[in-house]
Amino acid sequence: MRILVVEDEAAISRMLRDALEDTGYSVVTAEDGDTAVTLATSEMFHLIILDLMLPGKDGWQVCEELRLQRVNIPILMLTARDAVGDRVKGLDLGADDYLPKPFDINELLARVRALLRRDKMHKTRLITVDDLEIDCDQRRVRRAGKEIFLSPREYTLVEALASHEGTILSRETILESVWNCSDTFSNTVNVYVGMLRKKVDTGHAHRLIHTVHGAGYMMLRRQ
Ligand code: CA
Repeated sequence: MRILVVEDEAAISRMLRDALEDTGYSVVTAEDGDTAVTLATSEMFHLIILDLMLPGKDGWQVCEELRLQRVNIPILMLTARDAVGDRVKGLDLGADDYLPKPFDINELLARVRALLRRDKMHKTRLITVDDLEIDCDQRRVRRAGKEIFLSPREYTLVEALASHEGTILSRETILESVWNCSDTFSNTVNVYVGMLRKKVDTGHAHRLIHTVHGAGYMMLRRQ
């Protein structure tokens, strides 16, 4: 699970990173709103912890912009303010939960677990990209109604690409989320994408899996 921590106060950012990494999450940090929007719209994350007061765009603007760009992952807002009006505003703009500072790190970790659990439960269990259908409960994949048989790794890879359709996933991101490792010299991702492409795209006029040179891979529907 990858978490984006957006916090400009170095000490709090470090404390969050340490606690989340100790719990087993991968953490990427951003110190301002613009970087947060760039990262959240170009990389794959499972949750965002978003401070309200940030240089550049504030947490409210970041939240609103991400929701407008259809980034639907859970957002946990942090702030020193505890006024009911602020909390309502954050939730109205698309935040999923709200934690006033100073917070207890154990409470934060519990909120993170709850949000990730809720997101998993509410996720559409059927992903479709054009004529590709992925049944996430049964881990079965069909294209144009025809079943495609995949190994467990290939399945995890196709689910990652399809659920982030239109987003470039870098080799590093794929390695981290599908293989849970970060060997950046590994050729594994290229090999698996090649195998997956054969099974998913061969014989179809429209290719779903695209290589973005120097950046990674992306699934794209017909325009
Ligand atoms: Ca701040």
